[in-house]
Amino acid sequence: MLNYNGVGGGTVLYAAQWPRLLPSDFTRRTDEGVADDWPLTYAELLPFYERTDRQFGVSGLGGDPAFPDGADPPLPPLPIGPGALRVARAHARLGWHWWPATNAILSAPWSGRHPCVQRATCQLGCNEGAKGSTDVTHWPAFVAAGGRLITGACVVALPTDARGLATGAEWVDEEGRAHFQAADVVLLAANGIGTPRLLLASASSRAPGGLANSSGLVGTRLMVHPLALVKGLFRQDLQSWRGHSGGSIVSYQFYASDERRGFVGGAKWAMAPTGGPLRAALTNGGSWGDDHHRHVRDRFGCSAHWGLVCEDLPNPDNRVDLSPTLTDRAGLAAPRITYRIDDNTHALCEWHIDKARESLVEAGAWHTEVEFRYPPNGHFMGTARMGDDRDHSVVDRWSMAHDVPNLGIIDGSTFVTSGGVNPTSSICALALRAVDHLLAHRGDVPTPAHRRSVHTGAPSTPLGRPVTLGRPPDDAATVDDSVRLRLARIAEVLIPASDTMPSAGEVGVADHLLDRVLASVPSLAEALTAALDADIAGEDTRAWLDGLSTRDPAAYRSLVLAVAGAYYLDPGVRRKLGYEGQVPQPVRPDAFPEYVDEGLLDAVLSNWTRSPGGFTTASPPRPGTG
Ligand SMILES: Cc1cc2nc3c(=O)[nH]c(=O)nc-3n(C[C@H](O)[C@H](O)[C@H](O)COP(=O)(O)OP(=O)(O)OC[C@H]3O[C@@H](n4cnc5c(N)ncnc54)[C@H](O)[C@@H]3O)c2cc1C
Ligand code: SF4
Repeated sequence: MLNYNGVGGGTVLYAAQWPRLLPSDFTRRTDEGVADDWPLTYAELLPFYERTDRQFGVSGLGGDPAFPDGADPPLPPLPIGPGALRVARAHARLGWHWWPATNAILSAPWSGRHPCVQRATCQLGCNEGAKGSTDVTHWPAFVAAGGRLITGACVVALPTDARGLATGAEWVDEEGRAHFQAADVVLLAANGIGTPRLLLASASSRAPGGLANSSGLVGTRLMVHPLALVKGLFRQDLQSWRGHSGGSIVSYQFYASDERRGFVGGAKWAMAPTGGPLRAALTNGGSWGDDHHRHVRDRFGCSAHWGLVCEDLPNPDNRVDLSPTLTDRAGLAAPRITYRIDDNTHALCEWHIDKARESLVEAGAWHTEVEFRYPPNGHFMGTARMGDDRDHSVVDRWSMAHDVPNLGIIDGSTFVTSGGVNPTSSICALALRAVDHLLAHRGDVPTPAHRRSVHTGAPSTPLGRPVTLGRPPDDAATVDDSVRLRLARIAEVLIPASDTMPSAGEVGVADHLLDRVLASVPSLAEALTAALDADIAGEDTRAWLDGLSTRDPAAYRSLVLAVAGAYYLDPGVRRKLGYEGQVPQPVRPDAFPEYVDEGLLDAVLSNWTRSPGGFTTASPPRPGTG
């Protein structure tokens, strides 16, 4: 699981793909007899999708027949790049759906923010402010309007009064002092893991199973969208490290269930840049020794990949509860996550992987490979589901807790089904809808008995074993000379010279380049020191490395990461590969996209039609391909 604390939450490091759930995601029980129906429809959520699109500054192309009618995205689509163009042509030939992707990334100036410069570093944070993360789209406006943002605060419980109404939040500051913030209404947005964690940690004599948990559902039905990344290698230069890491193009061709496939559900596919030389070097464990340079040449700049977001069905056994032994620095019990990919989802992912390979081969790939199968993901849904029946749901259709009428939950916890799309645009639309309704009906929401906000000044007492959330040390991480000498020797074996490329030793990977790697990944210093603590001068280096890879794979990976990380930082190596690095390339939304020129969207529009209910139907794709 990928999860962290910070102002802006997951959106600071997210890729900013901004798809919506499809209408059919809201009616799975009615349509197919699986999972449950939502208590609202796509049509009811549509106005909020359109408003949040404007708040975040969404770029995209209207008219995608996979979705019902609605307002176009406020900004024109971002460029799709040469790799995605090849795949779009392939889909036009196959009769398969494709469309320029919708992203919360600016293709033009918007609300005082700068447009994207296509450096593909979105998942490290966007230093242009082009990516729509809430630290730039919402928090500044909140603070400017007089709101108070307290950083480093860890909420440890949501207490209630004698009537069971939420009275506010107990929280602990960075120095360990406990506070209480009183509130008339409490809105919880700690994500699909943090929210059930806090509700369960707020158990009391009135709510022994956890706050808002009379249904027993809090924490259950966790859905995370197992992901797969299917990569195609091409002979052509596709400049595939450029672009934005959201999506360039998407496909909903196989989103709908088809019982002939032997599983229910589907997946959205999206293309994105495939990374620089280091990622090419490390793909699937990399190739070390004489084959290294070929391995990188085959992938770097000439690959394209589909990221598959596979639908997860709600399963009561997949859950978040509280660790009996671990707490964080504030004394809040850590979340314990129990999750297994079930057979249906597994079959779904494998089927989609095969289809994605077919797409890439049609586009001209000479080789396909799965770069990631189920890597850690940051989509958390379903752990406080929404519904009209209070015995079978945690919040009502307006995201307010059935048991606690002045407590709202406005994150992915409330999802009834996960769909097969990235969740954030739906989380935001649901949150806006909930808050609009709350404001309009504020007078109907009961107010709790007031407790005064207090700062006790007393440090909190952690329960159980605290987890250290240390800051990076002030001193730069480093390794001693003996470790550098051994690393230099190993580096020659891992990355030897070729006809055109220097060896790792020649560029000095154990010297200043290593310092730069350690500055980025300080924890490597300890790992390298541990892995290279013994003298290897008398050893056959190749055999020693082979032994290490079996004996201690984590130590082996640290060595490989340090050597390759340093090697591909070298300007000479980059020049020889034709890698300019992350050079800004402002987008030109006025440029006429080739796909329009070539009529590639016409093929989609003629194959796909919207049905009157807002659903979509695809005419049969080319025989043998559907
Ligand atoms: C690498 C990565 C890539 C992603 N890419 C995409 C994408 O392309 N498209 C997409 O739709 N989604 C993507 N996601 C998912 C997206 O980030 C989340 O869906 C979104 O951030 C969820 O918003 P949220 O407000 O529910 O939760 P979060 O963003 O997780 O915010 C929760 C906030 O609550 C705070 N918090 C939690 N517990 C406590 C506590 N006890 N006390 C005080 N504060 C607390 C946290 O610090 C955090 O600020 C990605 C996620 C990751 C990690
Ligand atoms: S490509 Fe660069 S500028 Fe564009 S959104 Fe990503 S990080 Fe920001």
